[in-house]
Amino acid sequence: MRAAVLQEIGQEKLEVLDDVEAVGFGPGRVRIRVRATGLCHSDLSAMSGVLPQPAPFVPGHEGAGEIVEVGEGVTHLKPGDRVVVCWLPACGACPACKRGQTQLCLAGFMNAGTPNFRRPGGDVFGFAGTGTFAEEVVVDAGCAVPIPGDVPFDIAALIGCGVTTGLGAALNTAEVEAGSSVAVIGCGGVGISAIQGARLRGAAEIVAVDPVPARREEALRFGATQAVAPDELADAKQRVTGGEGFDYVFEVVGRSATARTAYETTRRGGTLVVVGAGAMDDFLQLSMFELFFDEKRILPSMYGGGDVLRSYERTIALWRAGRVDLDGLITHRVPLAEVNEALDQMRTGTSLRTCVEI
Ligand SMILES: [Zn+2]
Ligand SMILES: [Zn+2]
Repeated sequence: MRAAVLQEIGQEKLEVLDDVEAVGFGPGRVRIRVRATGLCHSDLSAMSGVLPQPAPFVPGHEGAGEIVEVGEGVTHLKPGDRVVVCWLPACGACPACKRGQTQLCLAGFMNAGTPNFRRPGGDVFGFAGTGTFAEEVVVDAGCAVPIPGDVPFDIAALIGCGVTTGLGAALNTAEVEAGSSVAVIGCGGVGISAIQGARLRGAAEIVAVDPVPARREEALRFGATQAVAPDELADAKQRVTGGEGFDYVFEVVGRSATARTAYETTRRGGTLVVVGAGAMDDFLQLSMFELFFDEKRILPSMYGGGDVLRSYERTIALWRAGRVDLDGLITHRVPLAEVNEALDQMRTGTSLRTCVEI
């Protein structure tokens, strides 16, 4: 079957190959025919080495498709079922799962280091244990979440990562208060989802911050009340909050420099929500004095910061009711053969989400 493979960390281009095989099928596992996958910024971060990932590997972790085959012991799925690929499955038994914080379950990382694919030349890994830039993936049954028949594959794919992450940051982690002021730094698919979440919770002011003019335009369309370039943020803080700072600032970039700016843009007693996935050697500096004296709450938000499956269901309900715009997030579509174009669109910020149709 066909899959897009990155041969070495640091390379910019994927090779679309047709001699790849999805491996690891057996008891408790399922085989999925991938139909659509979104390109998430974490895929680029894994390719560049910012996020840890062995190579060669197939990127892609935001996917949806149909069940082809179920292994022994899998009772909740059957061939033909439509599913979202969940890269962070819940075991249901660990302390985090029992508390309802399935985003903190580590079960999905237990298979890290096990190849998901094979080529005649050797083993190939899948990003985050999935690797959805492929016609087929084999994953634990818990990574295949059934979805209703009215949810198209492209929409379902977005729910698999970016939308869940961004909406959840506003709805689960920050619990944005009605009437509050919000700034969102970084307005790709995740940042736009955070904007939609803040709007749903009734934020009065939502300032979108992004260096790319096209993304600022999009942010206004999705509910931002103002959109500014990063060097205009200090002015916006003055204008919107009288200089005090925003009640909530979402950092959706994943860099210490933007996190520091976000911290300084948050009002005393306000909330900084860290959504971006950053590097292990990139450190955020805070003085012990400001940490104590300014009483700003720093709330990291992993995969939407709540029960993952409940977040999926909530998103589907909001989408059906027309309360969130997911269709509009897909600004580009490409076939798998043109996946490198999708990477370029993401790098240059010309897409919110590119849907790779497989
Ligand atoms: Zn992602
Ligand atoms: Zn668990």
